[in-house]
Amino acid sequence: MLEVKNLHVSVRDEDVKILNGVNLEISTGELHAIMGPNGSGKSTLANVIMGNPKYKVDQGDILFDGESIKDLTTDERAKKGIFMTFQNPYEIDGVKFNNFLLTAYRKIHGDSESYKVLNERIQSILSELVVSDNFLNRFLNVGFSGGEKKKGEILQARFLKPRLLILDEIDSGLDVDALRIVASQINKIRKMGTSVLIITHYKRILNYLDVDRVHVYTNGQIVRSGNFSLADEIEKKGYTTIVG
Ligand code: ADP
Ligand code: MG
Ligand code: MG
Repeated sequence: MLEVKNLHVSVRDEDVKILNGVNLEISTGELHAIMGPNGSGKSTLANVIMGNPKYKVDQGDILFDGESIKDLTTDERAKKGIFMTFQNPYEIDGVKFNNFLLTAYRKIHGDSESYKVLNERIQSILSELVVSDNFLNRFLNVGFSGGEKKKGEILQARFLKPRLLILDEIDSGLDVDALRIVASQINKIRKMGTSVLIITHYKRILNYLDVDRVHVYTNGQIVRSGNFSLADEIEKKGYTTIVG
């Protein structure tokens, strides 16, 4: 479903190369984890798949359902069913979370479902997240705690029903209870047949998920791939030893 082919990427208008030939294939319904040290270009990879204009593809391609999406805008990619949660979600003053969800849903899926039905779906997801009552009436992420922001991201992911979900450090800064809640949402999203790419530093969230493949990522490249046991190995030995 997703094919990243020999992807070389630099920062637009600057001579900074960040991705140095990434190759990655994710089939429908699979969950792949990318693990790698700080500053290795993991968020850049996520942003490039989503079409962040800050970055420029110098070489290679990104295919979704066999078609190149490399030159599509971010909203066009979103309409194809790709959704990325931010490592550091933006605060958008003046935009109520609830309105944001409804507007985004209709932009992607059209207006065949009534606001009543959509709001009921939102409420039913919200009841599983354990957040304060006024969560949805607040402006998007404004004044949210770190954990609330991450729960807000996973709420969007579940509500918008993406076909490919990219999770950039969704587990960072979560306490044990919040981690379990977020992991359970990821598992529910997967039941819709969604493919998942999860970027994380720690094995702990992977313990709750059914992982198809783990990739070690350094210097803008995937340097090793394996099954779940590779995550164990990383935790025991650290990246430096693993990459050699
Ligand atoms: P990771 O998510 O693995 O921690 P990032 O993708 O955030 O890594 O960043 C990789 C490297 O690219 C870092 O050195 C970072 O400073 C640099 N970088 C990322 N985005 C930009 C940008 N827009 N301008 C300049 N440097 C950037
Ligand atoms: Mg980082
Ligand atoms: Mg990052």
